[in-house]
Amino acid sequence: MYKCPGCNSEISLDDVNVSTDIALCRACGQTNSFAEMNETAGLPDFNELKQPKHIRIEPDFSDGKSLVCKKMSPIALFLIPFTAVWSGMSMWGIYGTQFMKGEFNLTMSLFGLPFLFGTVVLVSVCLFSLFGKRVVTMGNGRGLVFVGVGPLGWKRRFLYTKNLKVSVDYSAMRQNNRPVKCIYIKGGSKELKLGWGMKDELLEYIAAFIRYEADKA
Ligand SMILES: [Zn+2]
Repeated sequence: MYKCPGCNSEISLDDVNVSTDIALCRACGQTNSFAEMNETAGLPDFNELKQPKHIRIEPDFSDGKSLVCKKMSPIALFLIPFTAVWSGMSMWGIYGTQFMKGEFNLTMSLFGLPFLFGTVVLVSVCLFSLFGKRVVTMGNGRGLVFVGVGPLGWKRRFLYTKNLKVSVDYSAMRQNNRPVKCIYIKGGSKELKLGWGMKDELLEYIAAFIRYEADKA
């Protein structure tokens, strides 16, 4: 939720334009810099938050902590049948038939490469939507963000001190013409973003966890 710095009224998302950095307050008519409002938007106190059911926190990095978030994505319901049909038909039609006949067809095989690539991407997204996890590990001034399936995925390290900036902000990405929120971690010159498409409740909880752990440094 965003509040007008002038009169403290709530500013509706419809009155925010991220690309021009303008947030209009309907109550007093003041235009504000959206970026500056974001900097000041506070996070809830971690100790007062209820742990969401898709999240668990465990000890890690000897005396540090890991937050693990595992949640099946609703896109799996649509994506898995789609992948089965699309990939199944194209892979069978292009490579399966060659295999059955026992003869290799170069032209057809080359033609099929984009379908093969598409299949690899689709299957990876399906696996992530089913078994994917996001992990944030923090301890002794070292942090690690992991997004992936099992040991495979995207990994980013960061260093932190008490001054680590953590916020839940709107990103440049849009979904249904609305800006999508994600978590920003700014440690020194480095900026990390994570959590696109996650629910606000989860984003806030994870951001509050990072803030809380950084304060121990
Ligand atoms: Zn106002």
